[in-house]
Formats: sequence, C-alpha cells, structure tokens
Amino acid sequence: MLPKLITLSVLTRKSDELFERARRRIPGGVNSPVRAFKSVGRNPLFLSRASGSKVWDVDGNEYIDYVGSWGPMILGHTHPKVLEAIRKTAERGTSFGASTELEVKMAEMICHLMPSVEMVRMVNSGTEATMSALRLARAYTGKEKVIKFAGCYHGHADSFLIKAGSGASTLGIPDSPGVPQAVASSTLNARYNDLDSVGSLVSQHESQIAAIIVEPVAGNMGCVAPKPGFLQGLREICTREGIVFIVDEIITGFRLARGGAQELYAVHADLTTLGKIIGGGLPVGAYGGRLDIMEMVAPSGPMYQAGTLSGNPVALAAGYETLSLISEDKGFYTRLEKKSQLLADGITSVVKELQTPAILNRVGSMFTLFFTDKDVNDYDSAKQCDMGLFASCYRAMLEKRIFLPPSQFETAFISTAHTDSDIEQTVQTVRQTLRTISS
Ligand code: PLP
Repeated sequence: MLPKLITLSVLTRKSDELFERARRRIPGGVNSPVRAFKSVGRNPLFLSRASGSKVWDVDGNEYIDYVGSWGPMILGHTHPKVLEAIRKTAERGTSFGASTELEVKMAEMICHLMPSVEMVRMVNSGTEATMSALRLARAYTGKEKVIKFAGCYHGHADSFLIKAGSGASTLGIPDSPGVPQAVASSTLNARYNDLDSVGSLVSQHESQIAAIIVEPVAGNMGCVAPKPGFLQGLREICTREGIVFIVDEIITGFRLARGGAQELYAVHADLTTLGKIIGGGLPVGAYGGRLDIMEMVAPSGPMYQAGTLSGNPVALAAGYETLSLISEDKGFYTRLEKKSQLLADGITSVVKELQTPAILNRVGSMFTLFFTDKDVNDYDSAKQCDMGLFASCYRAMLEKRIFLPPSQFETAFISTAHTDSDIEQTVQTVRQTLRTISS
C-alpha cells in the first residue's frame, strides 16, 4: 500500500496528480531523493519550464528559484547563448562515439581557468568524477583508505556512502544497504573544520591512506565555510604523508571564483572533481589534476575508466558556452557577489529585527539559513538546527512563490539572473514568513 499523500496546498493539484502517478512507477515518485520534499512534509513540485531567475510548475505557478538545478544554473535558466550553442551543436549530431574538437577546447579551458588541473578527463556526472578520482588516487598510491568529512557528499559511489557523525562512523558503517562492508571499512570519517580529527586518523592508519577528499566549502550539510587554515592544513598533511588531496569542486568550481574555491582560498589540489556548472545544465562531470597522476588514466596508463557518452558534444557545448560567458565577463563575480550580499544583508536584518533563532551562512553565491542560534561549522552543529521550524518556513516560503532547496542540509544558489526586485521580494517574504512563525 502506498502511503497517503500529504496535500497542503490547493494550488498544486496537477503536481499532486503527477506525483500520484509517478510513485507507482518511479521509486518514491522521483529520480533523485532530495526532489521528494520529504523532510519538509510536502509533495514534490513538478516543473514545466524556467527562464532567468524563475521556474514555473505544471499548475502555472511562478517561483523565484534558488535551487538553480542544484548548482549548474549560475547564469540563470535558458540563457539565450547557451541555448543557441546547444541547438547549433545538436543539429550537427548529438553523439559520435569519437573525439571532437570541442573536447580539446573544453580541456584547454578548464586547465587554463584552474591552474592545479594540468590534464582532465570528462565524464557524465559528479558521482562518476569522484568515483574515478578515488580509483586513480588508489592506483597512484597503491593504498586503499580514504578520509572524507562527516556531512560532505561526494555522490553515491559505494566508498562515499558512509554514515557521518555517529560514533560508529569511523569504523565505516555503510549509510545504505548494498554497500559492501569491505568497501565501507576503507572509508574513514573526520570532522569538518577539525584538523586534529584528520591528524589522528592519519596516525591510526599510518601509510594506508590513498586520499583525503573534501568539499572546500561544504554545500551538503547546508552552506558551511572552511575555517581559516583548514584547507591549507589538509594540503600540508597530504604533502607530508604522500596522500592525494582531492578537492571536490563539483559545487564550488567556477561558482566561487573563476578558479573555483582553490583560487578563493589559495590552495592547490592534487586532483579536482568538477560537475554542475561545467555542464551548463546538461549532464557532465570531470576529474583532473597533476600530470603525473592523470597520466595513469587509460589509455595513457593502467587505471581504467571509460564512458560511451563521455565528452558528449551537446553537453559540452552547453558547458563550454557557460564557462566562456563567465570567464570573458570581467565583472561577473563582482556582480554575483553584490546580489548575494544584498540578499544576505536583507535576510540577516530581518532575522535580527524579529529575533528569530537563525543564522545565515554564506560564501559567495551559496547560502543557507540555519534555524539555530549557534554557529554552524560542521555536521554536528548543522544537525542541532530546528528541523520543524525549517519545514514550516519552507512551506510558507513556497506558498509565497519562493523556491528554495527542500532540505536544511542543502545550500541555496544565487545566479546573475536574479534581479534586485527578486531579492527585495524574497526578503519581504522572509519577513512575512518569520513574523507569522514567531507570532
Ligand atoms: N560532489 C558534490 C560536492 C556534490 O554536491 C554532488 C551532487 O550534488 C556530487 C559530488 C555528485 O554529483 P552528481 O549528482 O552529478 O552525481
């Protein structure tokens, strides 16, 4: 028996009907779990179109969008130049299974913008990128263990689906059935922003660690910034111990700066994983880094990794155009920062005015309003938030046509398509919502 539908709004009848049909044929009614809106106690929205900073659902409701397809849409939706590049490329063929000039141009562009990347391999998703980077680190070092951070998400490959935060986590208890214990036990969990937790794992597992992988700004426990020195400390540990330092820039790459978080925090990865923005809204991932490591990838070296649709021309056309538009526009990041600052200042002043127990974390165009009065620096502090209050606020904001990520543990995104009036409307909606909740 399917569970009863939760219908909270009369305005989304068509979405509700589609969900009813979807959950009979698609697990949970969605093709990726976070789209289910489960943690905010609501049925999922089914969207039909998007433009600039807006999305529309199948019932015709218009929303200001801060999901941005979970990160790729830094230019806003349906940018005319990106659409034109997709259209022109598709007319010449959607897939060849052979090399194209665009693959060379894309690799050159990524290496030019991100100096730690000397050679790069294109794949089809972020999950593929991190999974391959880890295999490469293991091949390069001849070691098997990996250190990740509680609350950081690196896609759904077995090695990364290890429970975070609990006492058992350092023993490698799988987060999902189906992850073999043997794989799980190679994954060690450290605490984000805590170099001592890394140091003790490194000494407990001396000479066994292939890689440390980190989200340079965490986006998957909500937005959490690295403390000063944290990323540099990881770099030093990796250099000293011969560990491959993998910086997962799948969210942050080309979002926080032209050279990603590595430019913003002046840190150099051995391997970098990319996705989201480099696909301009189409399915793309990539991993790249030091030449001596990347030369181990087949057919150059023995580490096997392949893909029927890797470097797909249509997907790369969208990504290449997006990266070109960003990198050729000198004022791009200044404008994005100004919009982000305006929104953050507006929300922060409402929170202060209404004395709501909430704090806003923001790095560039990534932000999360956490419902707690304590600092959020890691997964444990993120988990202390009032999830009930988050869910109530979320539903109220949605009904007032603001589309935010439906989870306290996800970052929201601002694009250059957001206008001052979008931002003003969002801040007013936050004020109405928090006032209603606190009265
Ligand atoms: N790494 C990070 C930091 C991510 O945020 C995500 C997805 O959100 C992934 C990896 C996995 O990417 P994908 O969903 O494209 O497989």
